[in-house]
Amino acid sequence: MKKVHNFSAGPAILPQSAIDASIEALQDFSGTGLSLIEVSHRSKEYEAVVNEATQLVKEILNLSDEYGIVFMQGGASLQFDMIPYNFLDEGETAAYLNTGVWAGRAIKEARIFGNVNVVASSEDKNFSYIPKGFNIPSDSKYFHCTSNNTIYGTELFSFPETNVPVICDMSSDIFSRPFDASKFDMIYAGAQKNMGPAGTTLVIVKKDMLGKGKRKLPAMLDYKLHIDNGSMYNTPSVFAIFVCMHTLRWVKSIGLTEMAKRNKAKADLLYAEIDRNTLFKGTVVHEDRSRMNVNFVLTDKSMEEEFLKLCKDHNLSGLKGHRSVGGLRASLYNALPIDSVQVLVDTMKEFEQLKIKQGAANS
Ligand SMILES: *Cc1c(COP(=O)(O)O)cnc(C)c1O
Repeated sequence: MKKVHNFSAGPAILPQSAIDASIEALQDFSGTGLSLIEVSHRSKEYEAVVNEATQLVKEILNLSDEYGIVFMQGGASLQFDMIPYNFLDEGETAAYLNTGVWAGRAIKEARIFGNVNVVASSEDKNFSYIPKGFNIPSDSKYFHCTSNNTIYGTELFSFPETNVPVICDMSSDIFSRPFDASKFDMIYAGAQKNMGPAGTTLVIVKKDMLGKGKRKLPAMLDYKLHIDNGSMYNTPSVFAIFVCMHTLRWVKSIGLTEMAKRNKAKADLLYAEIDRNTLFKGTVVHEDRSRMNVNFVLTDKSMEEEFLKLCKDHNLSGLKGHRSVGGLRASLYNALPIDSVQVLVDTMKEFEQLKIKQGAANS
């Protein structure tokens, strides 16, 4: 099999141990003689998977018993609806930080259910920075933010101090660095960026947030019901949660402090080359540069296709920017080894040499 360096923004690279365990379990899951995808989710072997995955989240993030932890379906996108549906009654106002497409979708959905106060936005500069120093009115029902803006390559390295409940979409940087989870009332993350395959979404919610709204909740949209049933109210994403469990085992074996060190080293290596090499240019203000998604462009846009072709020749995959913003984006999630980043940096240097040679030949 050819070795491809996977810079995809999501679904994205996973640790080899999780892939190996999946291959084995597709043949014979946990000695049952059945494939993982044909086994009952109520079997004791599979219940052990959901329990362990949940326990690992709790341990890695150091969560107290005040939090409910569930694996849900519907993607991070369903959370954009479930959050206001559960926590924002008609006539009430929630505060939202607008830092990109996903934050924008969360805002759009919340407006269906209640009032939205966009406390700050970086839309004026195409979401190339994180707004700071904004005010969150103390009568807001909650404050919603996105810790890492996957499409634009900005990341929140600190969170506002506020007395209102904080809800955060951590889809693309959860488990990439240590943080104080006790400061959040709810955290959610689609698995397919940094935790597992597509098909499940991790939801962590403080139990004292639940059961307070006026709205009548349909079963599938009620957090409490999912928590009370341990992610098993209905058939969960059996395969996806299994892969998450193995990824979480790997995350735990490394630890978030070491993981953050590795992620910083990878990002520093790539940003240093973007800043050194005059053919390339970063698109985000330095202090808000994401360590997960590195956005950059060619200073001469007409060279983009040629550079991507060279990348392909070096087995570098997934570098095209999101269709809504263009340019280039290198996603450096947990499982991406620094060697892959080095190959990308070497390719950028090779492209520079190639252009110098062409310039000399033309003059
Ligand atoms: C990808 C992504 C989403 C959307 O996730 P789905 O699982 O496709 O619904 C939401 N928020 C962020 C920050 C993302 O990166």
